[in-house]
Amino acid sequence: MLGRLARYLRFLGHDTAYARGELDAAIAERARVEQRVLLTRDRALAARAPGALLLISPALDEQLRTVRRAYPQYRYALTFERCTLCNGRLAPAPAGDARGTLPGAPAARNGRALTVFLCDQCGHAYWEGSHTANIRTRVSEVFAVL
Ligand SMILES: [Zn+2]
Repeated sequence: MLGRLARYLRFLGHDTAYARGELDAAIAERARVEQRVLLTRDRALAARAPGALLLISPALDEQLRTVRRAYPQYRYALTFERCTLCNGRLAPAPAGDARGTLPGAPAARNGRALTVFLCDQCGHAYWEGSHTANIRTRVSEVFAVL
């Protein structure tokens, strides 16, 4: 239900687990054991997990604002240091190492060699492009209004 929010929290560098196909009891227990804040749109799950944050809005922008209002102590600057697929950490790939395996990845952008970042868990590759510019714009607009 909150897959897009999970992706954006990872863009912001937050260690974000995403539960798929797990029973409510297992999700609540995992959050407790891993000392995570449980974010959910499910009232019954929120009631089961102490400290859970119930997100009412289905809209990503409002969900991000709600999280920031509830947890202002965390940072909300884009870091792009986490894999949006698996939550692994991203690190720059050695020049030329990953580019050959990336269909569609340009060798350079704006005259500068492209830096490719690889996930240390699943190996997914990332690089700066128009999509990251769009994410930067969206996040700055979202957090301009709290
Ligand atoms: Zn990954």
